Amino acid sequence: MNRTTTNAAVYIREICDSDTMHKKPLRKHYQDFRDTLLAWFKDYQRDMPWRRTSEPYRIWVSEVMLQQTQVKKVVGYYERFIARFPDVEQLARAPLQDVLKVWEGLGYYARARNLHKAAQVIVNELDGKIPRDYATFRKLPGIGDYSAAAVQSIAFDAPYAAVDGNIKRVLARLFLIETPINDAKSAKLFQQKADECLDPNAPGFFNQAMMELGATVCRPQSPTCLVCPVNSFCEAFHTARQNEFPYRRETKPVPEHHLAVGIIYRGNEVLLTQRQLDGLLGGLWEFPGGEITEGETAEVACVRHIADVVNLFVTDVRYFTRVRHAYTHFKVVVDVFQCDYQAGEVVLKGPRDAKWVEIVALRDYPLPRVTHKFLEKLVEGER
Ligand code: SF4
Repeated sequence: MNRTTTNAAVYIREICDSDTMHKKPLRKHYQDFRDTLLAWFKDYQRDMPWRRTSEPYRIWVSEVMLQQTQVKKVVGYYERFIARFPDVEQLARAPLQDVLKVWEGLGYYARARNLHKAAQVIVNELDGKIPRDYATFRKLPGIGDYSAAAVQSIAFDAPYAAVDGNIKRVLARLFLIETPINDAKSAKLFQQKADECLDPNAPGFFNQAMMELGATVCRPQSPTCLVCPVNSFCEAFHTARQNEFPYRRETKPVPEHHLAVGIIYRGNEVLLTQRQLDGLLGGLWEFPGGEITEGETAEVACVRHIADVVNLFVTDVRYFTRVRHAYTHFKVVVDVFQCDYQAGEVVLKGPRDAKWVEIVALRDYPLPRVTHKFLEKLVEGER
């Protein structure tokens, strides 16, 4: 612990020991806690486009986009998505490719595919209306406990407590919960605590207030406890242990994979392949390639994967660039080659589709972020 942290901890203890700080154990003061939190949220909440609407469709889109993604990144995507698909019907009728294109760069593409699938279920089977009942909504593709509770409470004021990573952190500190937040067994406990705290008279507003508290005050590093509206209810603050919580189970180091991909030229076109719809980056388009095995050069791996994945033989293989990208559970280092088509008919082993595309038309396809890391260089090189 450094000197600054120690001083801060002592200062907080002094405040807590003084008469100026009136402790209110949360277990005995739920309604006070709710009133205090909601009064703070009413005055200090950040302005966001999805907070200016009461349309369930828009609230649903925002909640899906906000999963695992920061607010500042979501705002632009949300506005473009709503401009392009203003209601559930237009989303349901759009081709998946268009949905993925608007989502391109936001990551976790299963969210976009499920949103699209769920919109089709709503339009085809539920009369085009977002279900106003938790159980039906929870059954839609891509809807988990968190999004069901968030959307049902915010859109319809239904009494369901939403629990995401931010809210777990706040609860862990408020109640000194030592169960690791990334342990699957902890879900029930955190849900129970969130249910106890929930304001039954304003569940949607309350859930948003908890999310806002976690995002702006009770942050992962250095929570600003001295200005926290609910510090008088917080066990971690009163024991100066806020930096100790939440507990986390140790996770394995993130593995790194080394890949080789080939941009195959045939005349003025290059070959793009489309990933299967399920799984990582499902439905996105990419250049064929795969992992480099031990003892193999990147160039040899590139030629081998092209033969394996699309059944083509290539010649004049030349190094183009190297890019890196980090996904949630692993990282990749990708060596990119350019090469020329030599022989063979495209036969797919793995991808769901393939197309010969002019370089200038590559931007029309939804591509993974890792491809965008060298796309501009590729397009510029053609000019
Ligand atoms: Fe979080 Fe500190 Fe507020 Fe407790 S007092 S809820 S630890 S910001």
